[in-house]
Amino acid sequence: MTPDEFRRYGHQLIDWIADYREGVAARPVMSPIAPGDVKTQLPKTPPASPEPFSALLNDLDAIVMPGLSHWQHPRFFGYFPSNGLLASVLGDYASTGLGVLGLSWQSSPALTEIEEVTTDWMRQMLGLSEAWSGVIQDTASTSTFLALLCAREKTTQYSLTGAGLQAEAKPLVVYTTAHAHSSVDKAALLAGFGRANIHVIPHDAAFAMRPDALRARITEDLAEGFVPCAIVCTTGTTTTTAYDPIELIAPIAHEFGLWLHVDAAMAGSAMILPEMRHMWEGIEGADSIVINPHKWLGVAFDCTLYYVRDPQHLIRVMSTNPSYLRSSVDEKVKNLRDWGLPLGRRFRALKLWFLIREQGVDALQARLRRDLHNAQWLAEQIRATPGWTVLAPVSLQTLCVRYEPAGVTGDALDTFTQAWCDRLNRSGAAYLTPAILEGRWMVRISIGAAPTEREHVAALWGAMQTEAGAK
Ligand SMILES: *Cc1c(COP(=O)(O)O)cnc(C)c1O
Repeated sequence: MTPDEFRRYGHQLIDWIADYREGVAARPVMSPIAPGDVKTQLPKTPPASPEPFSALLNDLDAIVMPGLSHWQHPRFFGYFPSNGLLASVLGDYASTGLGVLGLSWQSSPALTEIEEVTTDWMRQMLGLSEAWSGVIQDTASTSTFLALLCAREKTTQYSLTGAGLQAEAKPLVVYTTAHAHSSVDKAALLAGFGRANIHVIPHDAAFAMRPDALRARITEDLAEGFVPCAIVCTTGTTTTTAYDPIELIAPIAHEFGLWLHVDAAMAGSAMILPEMRHMWEGIEGADSIVINPHKWLGVAFDCTLYYVRDPQHLIRVMSTNPSYLRSSVDEKVKNLRDWGLPLGRRFRALKLWFLIREQGVDALQARLRRDLHNAQWLAEQIRATPGWTVLAPVSLQTLCVRYEPAGVTGDALDTFTQAWCDRLNRSGAAYLTPAILEGRWMVRISIGAAPTEREHVAALWGAMQTEAGAK
């Protein structure tokens, strides 16, 4: 493809995406297709000779489009939102079009420096002190993995320079709750802690970690010969958006010398609102934080922010520094390969930079406040309706609800809940992802897709009552 052909087809593709965003509300939110439906429409072998670009565009419409569940749809209420605001989409294109890599500062100086500036802008937007240094990673899962590697190396005083974890006499322990994201388990397992050394601390009625139980378990573990290493707190858990009391947990971490990592993947975006910062009160006492601007904030997937208080420690754990990557300016610059796992890094900062500049902080704040208000509005409607229950505090933009018709209990209630939610999803009217809370199925409503207005939330509530047969 020549640059001139690229110009022509590129314009077509941009038009196609603009049409898609303009018309997405008319589509069923959840893909109606069955497993294998996409594959059977594709040739088993690759084309030997070139195909026209128009054939690709046609297949996007004919084959790909029916096989999509639409995350940018105003009636998408599943999982957590993953908003790709269009300014950020263009930032992503610019990054891909430039095709530059950040192996070291010298390999693309602007890549590093725009990342330094945008992560510092975000630090200020989040209300964090200057003690924090940020770096962009691909996902929260990667960042939590880095955090536990850093915790491990702090506790073992850089065991990686010798025989590693295999030479440790006593097992290192990670503390978290049953409501932590599955990526915390995964990170602990991959960082070599082992399932048996993930100690799950009981939570309270609001699904938050109990500091008294944490302290008791650490004390008990010390007596039994374990080495307490890290605590992973969550600000905004995946099931209910509960938040662990960091202001009570950070002093415990300090007292016993543990690493404190805060997973604020979803709720972190809300920290751009001063009135929401009570959710991570005490955050300055943590060692590392992860936030996903690729969720609610609006940066096109993928873009995760990882903040640390001691970047020298991160660099010491991550650095390899082979001769072919060294340069004469290494003393004066950040080499971001030493701030994470991958050597080659995309210019991810562009899409964050584009978003913040095109929107401005005020508009980003206003959209998040709109969603918070919509969540409170829906909670009021549901609480006021007989048979319906809101099962967890609505601390952010997610509601956990259930409809319990008279006489339907136990496993029958589980079947009933899943059935009406499935009917609603299949109807195309909205998309919800049910989950288990305290052993029972419930329906989770996650508000915050960028085009979602009050009318869409009201339409969802109507469809829920219809499908649950309550109307
Ligand atoms: C979404 C989420 C994650 C995982 O995020 P990825 O970026 O997809 O790895 C982890 N923790 C919490 C609390 C989340 O909401």
